[in-house]
Amino acid sequence: MIDPARMANQPAPGRDCGSCTLCCKVYDVPAVESLAGSWCRHCQPGRGCAIHATRPEHCRAFFCLWMTQGFLGPEWKPDKARFVLTMDPATNWLFVQLDPGAPQAWRKEPYLTQLRRWAAAGNRPVIVFLNRSATAVMPDHDVPLGTITPDERLVLREELAAGRPRMTVVKVRAAA
Ligand code: SF4
Ligand code: SF4
Repeated sequence: MIDPARMANQPAPGRDCGSCTLCCKVYDVPAVESLAGSWCRHCQPGRGCAIHATRPEHCRAFFCLWMTQGFLGPEWKPDKARFVLTMDPATNWLFVQLDPGAPQAWRKEPYLTQLRRWAAAGNRPVIVFLNRSATAVMPDHDVPLGTITPDERLVLREELAAGRPRMTVVKVRAAA
């Protein structure tokens, strides 16, 4: 289990990005005017960063969960899984940022079963993003949320399903 209390922003022993460069495609990196969904113009996919020595601080500080959590097996390496795992420090919700070239990757096994297990064990959703479009993965169902705008945030709510209470996720406008 990914333990928020043991999160470290440094690689686990033996972990190395190797040929993975997926975080240089799936996130906005304003310092180099890179937009989520397209390779950063400085990225040499599969090889690394062409401006490695002078790359922005944002890039230097970033390590995905595969890098920091040594228990995640090789199938979770982002260039194999086709998504990048992170944890939101504010909520401890797991985020899955998909490679737009493989938008269904999270539905394959062993991923979907494990994402549901993490949602159940943590009693919180796992949020799968395709660029800015989100789906909440719950222990026994999914919640399509559509595009998340900068003034929206996601919150947990209880709903009734077949007469039984269960957790769901909704979008709300952030307080001004
Ligand atoms: S997604 Fe993770 S493993 Fe891949 S390049 Fe980025 S930090 Fe390294
Ligand atoms: S500047 Fe380099 S490390 Fe940063 S996103 Fe671009 S290619 Fe990746």
